[in-house]
Amino acid sequence: MKCADSIEARSVEESFINLDPIQAAGRLTPEAMKAVISWGDGYSVCDNCHKPFRLDYVNNPPIADFHEEVAKWLNMDQVQLVPGARRAFQEVTGALVGKGEPVIMTGMGHYTAYLSVEVVNGIVREIKPTPDHHITADAAAVSIENATREFGYAPKLVFVDAVDFMYGNFHEVKEIAKVARQYDIPVIYNGAYTVGVLPVDGKKLGVDFVVGSGHKSMSAPAPSGILATTTEYADIVLRTTRIQGDVTGRKFGIKQVGILGCSLMGAPVVGLIASFPAVKERVNHFDEQLKNHKIVTDALLSIEGTKVASEYPRKHTMTRMDTTESFDRIAQIHRKRGFFLSSALGKRGITGIMPGVTKQWKFNTYGLTTSQAEYLADSFIEIAEENSMVIG
Ligand SMILES: *Cc1c(COP(=O)(O)O)cnc(C)c1O
Repeated sequence: MKCADSIEARSVEESFINLDPIQAAGRLTPEAMKAVISWGDGYSVCDNCHKPFRLDYVNNPPIADFHEEVAKWLNMDQVQLVPGARRAFQEVTGALVGKGEPVIMTGMGHYTAYLSVEVVNGIVREIKPTPDHHITADAAAVSIENATREFGYAPKLVFVDAVDFMYGNFHEVKEIAKVARQYDIPVIYNGAYTVGVLPVDGKKLGVDFVVGSGHKSMSAPAPSGILATTTEYADIVLRTTRIQGDVTGRKFGIKQVGILGCSLMGAPVVGLIASFPAVKERVNHFDEQLKNHKIVTDALLSIEGTKVASEYPRKHTMTRMDTTESFDRIAQIHRKRGFFLSSALGKRGITGIMPGVTKQWKFNTYGLTTSQAEYLADSFIEIAEENSMVIG
């Protein structure tokens, strides 16, 4: 089946159990899929855009209500829709960081966070992760102290990953925010792996910005994301236009500068809204996701030599495995080399683990049913047995 001459219809989610770490929680709900088809036309959501001509004032579809609901849901004061978490970072650095000014980043930060500092010509100073891959408040205090001494003033911003993309570990967000507060430095909570999969309370965490990714964790089309902030920082980061044409005197009402007026239109915004009731509900059942995840990690750990490289017991469904002493041993002697694993999984209708990799690899079981998790667990055991590995 084809969408166009050169574009195949995609059927990965229909044909496979997909373990891709970045795709699992972004898979569309049926409601979002319908919304995408119905509202896919360019400026579709502008049908009912009236004065003051701003996206977050549109009532049909209910974009205005959505903004309010998301702010309440995250326990923050204001929300802006953005094309991806990275654009939220960029908007914040754009408003708060000047040329040559330092920003505190965790050593496990996403490349987009680093680039959001680079795009404003800022400078990154990292928080060193512990040997077991955690970012602590103590280490954050050291970085902030060092940067303050180096630059002669406090850093302009602190980035913290709630759950990092490397190990899926949880970090001391609340404690780091407390340290940053002592220096009056605003904190970005990077919820790319949390907003939309587990409960997040921005005020309780004491952060100034909560960032979520629609296409990673809110079952929304790309590009989509959330920037939530406090009343204090809304005045700065979500500021409205004041520019004026010098010849014509033109002004542009209350358009927001940081997103150049309007951000998400059409499929991304309506898809995000359509999934929201399901997303709001599912964050209350993350424990069930963890139970299913454990079925799979238990099976993997029963294969001799296999380790979980992430913190353990697992608190997130995205996990880094270390199979250097198990699957990688087979890869050394197998005719297909490292590809034996992805190939054996593929035969069983399982995809999303990086092909050819058998030392350390990541997977995400978010959204799998219990029977899918059991099937996955059995599949790993079967593959181990086929290769005469020892099951403990
Ligand atoms: C995926 C990811 C991002 C980028 O998210 P986008 O919504 O694609 O911009 C940022 N930070 C972390 C930790 C991520 O995992």
